[in-house]
Amino acid sequence: MTVIGAGIVGVCSAAWLQRAGFKVTLIDAGPVGEGASFGNAGNLSPGAVVPYMIPGFVKEVPGWLAQNGPLAVRPGYFFKVLPWMLTAVRTSRAETAMTTSRAMHALHRGTLDAYDELTRNTDAAALIERCGQLYVSTRVNAAQGSAIAQSMRQAAGVKVIALNEGEIRDAEPALAPIFKSGMLIPDNGRCKDPYRLVQLIAAEAQRNGATILRGKVTDFQTNGTHVNGIVIDGKTLSAERVVIAAGAASGQLSAILGTPLPVEAERGYHITIGEPGVDLRIPVTHVDAKFVCSPMNMGLRVAGTAEFAGYDAAPDWRRAELLGIQARAMFPGLRMEKVSRWMGRRPSLPDGLPVLGVAPDYANAFFAFGNSHFGMSAGPVMGKIVAELVAGRKPEIDLTPFNPARFR
Ligand SMILES: Cc1cc2nc3c(=O)[nH]c(=O)nc-3n(C[C@H](O)[C@H](O)[C@H](O)COP(=O)(O)OP(=O)(O)OC[C@H]3O[C@@H](n4cnc5c(N)ncnc54)[C@H](O)[C@@H]3O)c2cc1C
Repeated sequence: MTVIGAGIVGVCSAAWLQRAGFKVTLIDAGPVGEGASFGNAGNLSPGAVVPYMIPGFVKEVPGWLAQNGPLAVRPGYFFKVLPWMLTAVRTSRAETAMTTSRAMHALHRGTLDAYDELTRNTDAAALIERCGQLYVSTRVNAAQGSAIAQSMRQAAGVKVIALNEGEIRDAEPALAPIFKSGMLIPDNGRCKDPYRLVQLIAAEAQRNGATILRGKVTDFQTNGTHVNGIVIDGKTLSAERVVIAAGAASGQLSAILGTPLPVEAERGYHITIGEPGVDLRIPVTHVDAKFVCSPMNMGLRVAGTAEFAGYDAAPDWRRAELLGIQARAMFPGLRMEKVSRWMGRRPSLPDGLPVLGVAPDYANAFFAFGNSHFGMSAGPVMGKIVAELVAGRKPEIDLTPFNPARFR
């Protein structure tokens, strides 16, 4: 059983496959956990049921694209990403968005339980906390989002507490008094160090017998209906079954197996501030500027925003600097002497849902990628479902919305 990609989805798949009795080999082109899973904001969100593409989002796009806004499209990339964006606009219609929301709920609601099960009696358990998440806006009545966003949370039974200015300060005293509306989602949680979590899950899998290989997968050998070999750096490794969990690079691999998929590298940035001088209790999302401030073991992480520039384009570090400027306005006491910066590629499909299922043309290949903004939350559930699929058991959720053939 070979899993390609050692991000959160790949390592969780490996761990669950082991539990299902499979002997696992995990392959990554780089070190374990250094893809998008390295530097995300660590929000673990059973309550993430609101897609970005919902009715009304198109009206907001010009504002997001403004200078220093949360969305950027690199000149020269616009026409390449246009078909992806047009599909995204189509999926924002009310009925489709509601279906997406239900699928997100099915995939995300079990995240904290799945992490509990996966990390029980290991050091990784201490990295997960059920602490709630706070959402704040400088506008009145804005933190909960539009009426449709609120109705999606209501339909999914997500518990939400609306906060006024004073209650926001009580919930998170480190915040500047600039926020006019707030929302607390008490049943969400956080990961205190996403990179470490991926590494610890991988190390535990290795202790239990998994093999971890370094190498870039460039091709597959097949007999027309089954994959029987994986080409890694020019050498072929025989394979009985294969899981593609290669994050934003997965579309290239699925295409080799006859299923090209529109996986965009939706790039986001972070700065992580060591000894920040402010003590945040729970993750706080700036709803207007679309970034998260997360208390982490290594400091305060400010992460988010989206940039479409292609997989290989060089980072635009001005976007990371902007996060620093915005964080300073948010936390008056912030000290920024020890700052590291990072860019990561969210694996994003235009309908806002991942691909999860058997490859359309190959019975022994499985696709598990495309979790966009929610991969840390979906990872342990995706992994569990991968193991169920490979073992030939009926998955615990309906996989129709995640069908790998849906873009054909
Ligand atoms: C700024 C930012 C903030 C975020 N915040 C959150 C958050 O708060 N909560 C949340 O739930 N999600 C968040 N996300 C999203 C989350 O990080 C991703 O959805 C998730 O990490 C994707 O995991 P993955 O395992 O699919 O991919 P990755 O972690 O990218 O792993 C894929 C792996 O595949 C390997 N690979 C690729 N191609 C090949 C190949 N050909 N051969 C071998 N190996 C290959 C790569 O080297 C990589 O290690 C955030 C993302 C960003 C960028």
